[in-house]
Amino acid sequence: VTISENVLLNTYTTFRIGGPARFFVVVKNILDLTDALVFAQQKGLPIFVLGGGSNIVMSDNGFDGLVIKNEITGITFQEKADNPDVPENTTLVIAGAGEEWDAFVGTTVEKNLFGLETLSLIPGTVGAAPVQNIGAYGTEVKTTVRFVEAMHKETGELCTFTNAQCDFSYRNSFFKTPEGKKYVITRVGFILKHHDKPNISYRDIQKYIEEHKLAEVDITLQKVRDIVIDIRTNKLPSVKDYGTAGSFFKNPIIPKAEYEALLQQYPMMPHYPAGEELVKIPAAWILDNVCGFKGYREGDVGVYKNQALVLVNYGNATEKDVKNLAEKMIACVKEKTNINLEREVEYISEK
Ligand SMILES: Cc1cc2nc3c(=O)[nH]c(=O)nc-3n(C[C@H](O)[C@H](O)[C@H](O)COP(=O)(O)OP(=O)(O)OC[C@H]3O[C@@H](n4cnc5c(N)ncnc54)[C@H](O)[C@@H]3O)c2cc1C
Repeated sequence: VTISENVLLNTYTTFRIGGPARFFVVVKNILDLTDALVFAQQKGLPIFVLGGGSNIVMSDNGFDGLVIKNEITGITFQEKADNPDVPENTTLVIAGAGEEWDAFVGTTVEKNLFGLETLSLIPGTVGAAPVQNIGAYGTEVKTTVRFVEAMHKETGELCTFTNAQCDFSYRNSFFKTPEGKKYVITRVGFILKHHDKPNISYRDIQKYIEEHKLAEVDITLQKVRDIVIDIRTNKLPSVKDYGTAGSFFKNPIIPKAEYEALLQQYPMMPHYPAGEELVKIPAAWILDNVCGFKGYREGDVGVYKNQALVLVNYGNATEKDVKNLAEKMIACVKEKTNINLEREVEYISEK
């Protein structure tokens, strides 16, 4: 592998923020990855694994260690006839961690495999999808993940984690824990169904179907992918036009009793059931209707005009600019609702 020095990271993150990596390497297969890990070990360097850089705010000081950009590709399909462990009427699709997520979803939809269609147009790589258990329009990736293959950064051992071992929850998994961060994901196996109804339960999709007067026969798997792409294109900024990392905060989950108390003050506040005695509140609603952040701008950093959960870099915003605005938003939500907003986007500094 070719290890480069002092590589600016702003072009490798969708926020377009980040100073230099002391060392930087692109890995295209397991052997490259092993070489990169040995290099880091010999030099005693901390490691950061980079996919598409679409869920991070990289430090303006960069990363004083080795950044490994994962470009391990390859997609294979296994049927029951090839592998008896594959359940009836499903295909096991195994994808390299460096495959681009949305192109991968497109490939599964073209093959008429059900399960990932509502996760269309999410930026990033296949390898990062299990890390925060990506989700959108009523689906989380955890429902399709059969296994995650990963290499231990120190021992070089290649391990396979079952779905249960990944310990998925809302925008969270084992791979976000200190133990999980010791691994580099190399491949992910997904179980996708041959026959199913596409998932159109989410209200935005339902609304779209009504507005476009679509009949049930029109709602094919490909159509659901197209609908999601259309909705997302109108609602979210394109990473081609703006620096952004998508939703900056998670939707808070609070006790029902607290929600009922908040309703006295904010009678229109929406909610969704989130387990026994818990409800999930759309953070965007609070940031827009309670704090008035939609479209707010401070110099080169701001809140997207169509979605109050999305922070945007309009040009030369720094890590500090983004963090300051995020702190302001967290403080307002706390003051007005007593809810603690948690970040979805990860801050990356040297360690
Ligand atoms: C416009 C926009 C819309 C978005 N919409 C959604 C959405 O609807 N739903 C959603 O869930 N997310 C969404 N996101 C967030 C983001 O796209 C996802 O979290 C995505 O999975 C990140 O992939 P990535 O390859 O860019 O990861 P990166 O940002 O490069 O990395 C994210 C984290 O994963 C780790 N990581 C990456 N690859 C590996 C690997 N191979 N092994 C181990 N760790 C690894 C990194 O170290 C880091 O900790 C959106 C982002 C944008 C910019």
